Amino acid sequence: MTIDNVKKLPFDEARVREIMRDYPTPFYLYDERGIRQNARRLNAAFGWCDGFKEYFAVKATPNPYILKIAKEEGFGADCSSLPELELAARVGITGENIMFTSNDTPSAEYRRAKELGAIINLDDITHLRYVEEHAGGLPELICFRYNPGPLRRGNAIIGHPEEAKYGLTRPQLFEAYASSGKKGSKRFGLHTMVASNELNPEFFIETARMLFDLAVELAEKLGVRLDFVNLGGGIGIPYWPDEKPLNLEALGQAVKELYDERIRPAGLHPLRVYMENGRCITGPYGFLVTRAIHEKHTYKDYVGVDACMANLMRPGMYYQEGKRSGYHHITVLGKEHAPADTKVDVVGSLCENNDKFAIDRMLPKVEIGDILVIHDGGAHGHSMGFQYNGKLRCAELLLREDGKVQQIRRAETMDDYFATLDFSKL
Ligand SMILES: *Cc1c(COP(=O)(O)O)cnc(C)c1O
Repeated sequence: MTIDNVKKLPFDEARVREIMRDYPTPFYLYDERGIRQNARRLNAAFGWCDGFKEYFAVKATPNPYILKIAKEEGFGADCSSLPELELAARVGITGENIMFTSNDTPSAEYRRAKELGAIINLDDITHLRYVEEHAGGLPELICFRYNPGPLRRGNAIIGHPEEAKYGLTRPQLFEAYASSGKKGSKRFGLHTMVASNELNPEFFIETARMLFDLAVELAEKLGVRLDFVNLGGGIGIPYWPDEKPLNLEALGQAVKELYDERIRPAGLHPLRVYMENGRCITGPYGFLVTRAIHEKHTYKDYVGVDACMANLMRPGMYYQEGKRSGYHHITVLGKEHAPADTKVDVVGSLCENNDKFAIDRMLPKVEIGDILVIHDGGAHGHSMGFQYNGKLRCAELLLREDGKVQQIRRAETMDDYFATLDFSKL
């Protein structure tokens, strides 16, 4: 591995040891500056589009302090559950700054989304009736999630569209716009999401082409004029040091060219372009900081750390032998430039053999007490945490732009674990 493949960190060992005096490991550390700079890049890349909006996918990092940063950078919130709606609302993200892209949705969630004035993105044609009957009628603005089925190729994580549970088929989509128009909806949006963790920009360019063409067809065939198209989320991040981030500027330009080629000549300008990314917004700017507490030498060599899969599920969930999925880069603090000459499995304490942050990873020799930083945990990291095996979720800390550290979620305690149990009737 060459030196320019070293993944950079916004802190060094000395700073982390200082932080550890106040907050024991493991903890997540988010980099405010990185998140803001990246948010500005995305907005600038689509700056040509009047009304462009990124709706940050709350599920990626459902923390009010992170959502507040997103809001300050002009983002909305993409929600898919009642708690996510409340979280957005409590940060002051309301009205059409909320995209409610849910599926298999209970009626109470539609009611709350309507109350908040959120954009309701329906996942199925039967939900038109469902919202009418259970949420007091259709909202004025309605959006539908399109599933192109065999017309599009999916990617590894999200699977092929025709196998995906989401969205309406093409004939259903046309029927849905026609009937919601009759039922009183006056403004319309169109959404799709066919990729997850995708670094190839062609996926998103193809999605824009597909949605722009549909916008033209809907106008011609039904006289439905869309307010916006939502390209979904799914922009990937370079988990591997040898991967390159997707070029947001080039993507923005490619979508602009399609817009000029298809939307303007059809007389459909202005049409707003939305996205709802999670991973690429915060992913690279969150780090799981953990300490080596054991080493073990049996048939293999192990480093045991004080974090486990309950703190970061991705490696255990996505790892497949021989494939590149589930990789999270690890830096041993203070040994950034030491030769990576020992092969180890980095493991947690769960009674599950897939509780491994790394398998056969070449690292500098790790000593007990060394601090390991697991990269790219800023999205779908802490939020996928769980309490299986009596493991408690760790704290989330925010490294502010001024260099100070703020705790934005405390670590769970045993009391949290027992809070849902009533021993008095035992
Ligand atoms: C998960 C999800 C997103 C965000 O996906 P990322 O991979 O984090 O960008 C956006 N929209 C919907 C509907 C989702 O389910």
